[in-house]
Amino acid sequence: MIDETEARQRVADCLSRLPAIELPLDETLGKVLAADVASDIDSPPYDKALVDGYAVCSQDFAEANAEVVTTLRVLEEVTAGRTPSQPLRPGCATRIMTGAPLPEGCDAVVMIEQSQLDGDQVRLTGEAQPEQHLLRAGAAMRRGDLVLRAGVVIRAAEIGVLAEVGCARPSVVPAPTVAILSTGDELVPHDQTPTLGQIRNSNGPMLAAMARQAGAKVMSLGIATDDAADLERLIREGLRADMLVLSGGVSAGVLDLAPQVLRQCGVDEVFHKVRLKPGKPVWFGRSAAGVPVFGLPGNPVGSLVCFERLVRPALALMRGLSDPFEDRSVDARLAAPFSHRGPRPTYRPSRLCREEGVHVVAPVAWQGSADLCGIARANCLAAFPAGDRDYAAGEFVRCLPLD
Ligand code: AMP
Ligand code: MG
Repeated sequence: MIDETEARQRVADCLSRLPAIELPLDETLGKVLAADVASDIDSPPYDKALVDGYAVCSQDFAEANAEVVTTLRVLEEVTAGRTPSQPLRPGCATRIMTGAPLPEGCDAVVMIEQSQLDGDQVRLTGEAQPEQHLLRAGAAMRRGDLVLRAGVVIRAAEIGVLAEVGCARPSVVPAPTVAILSTGDELVPHDQTPTLGQIRNSNGPMLAAMARQAGAKVMSLGIATDDAADLERLIREGLRADMLVLSGGVSAGVLDLAPQVLRQCGVDEVFHKVRLKPGKPVWFGRSAAGVPVFGLPGNPVGSLVCFERLVRPALALMRGLSDPFEDRSVDARLAAPFSHRGPRPTYRPSRLCREEGVHVVAPVAWQGSADLCGIARANCLAAFPAGDRDYAAGEFVRCLPLD
């Protein structure tokens, strides 16, 4: 049996970024930028005022302090979108509004709140330090500067930057389509009432939600019975997506048919079983056309853990994220003693919080991999290495936050 690190590596080796497409800027939110973006302008394009007030020469204020009033002659008024018609000379000021270009010779702006206008004279109270309340041309970015790198997720701020540099159709990676198929004779859709021996399909909706959170589009295939023909039909449908995620049917039971049917559908096994708890039965393979297929354990928490540790990074890779295996773990002190038993590395649903600046973690009440309520009480997975060990309160354990 391979360990988790090896499994993640093998998944990565089988995947590549989806081909980039160009989209109108307003359709790119949440997508990943596929190419570096350079600026086609200096920003700001000219020296500009950052407040409403008066453009001045700071040398006129050399002797000023907070109480001193400096009187200057007002040459003209410049609002945003207009340009000054004359340079500034010592002894003069230009009335200027936020965003307007500064007149030549100006090296400071005094706020309007410090002014009193009287005809063509303005009385300015207080100091004017060189460079105050103005932004020089190109201070934020210069033409040709790399402003965004391939691999970043486009948030509102990135949309703003792309708009500023005139990138109307950014090159982005489209959201991968993930087909989700739940398997098991015992499953009924979540909007039905199970009869004896049946349970509701909780993995399907949960995995769909996780896939959406990970930036994918979901193709829900519903439930396949434990019948080879039914399974094959739905698997073939799922292989039309960019990724297929199955749950159930991958462990050692008599009706765990997924690996064998996947093989019949031309999906080659890359690994089956990972030294991990919960989640050991997980299966991974790739179709002849290169579609990655995950067979997640039927037990819901096993499914969730395997999604978190294997499927999420796989989606990040396909989306072209710069750091698909981003380590978001934090070290936290155990709130109480904890005994770990077992030969596999274990993820324990837990609650993470901050107390007086340090992370503290407490495992939640949990009945094992079939207990979804336990995981709903948790906000992280605490990672305990393989082997029996009694942990004392205050010992550090690694915690993986859950979204
Ligand atoms: P399996 O791997 O198919 O043997 O399933 C392991 C356990 O997970 C069994 O108790 C199943 O009933 C349960 N299970 C399988 N699929 C789902 C599902 N979609 N939703 C909830 N529980 C499931
Ligand atoms: Mg089953």
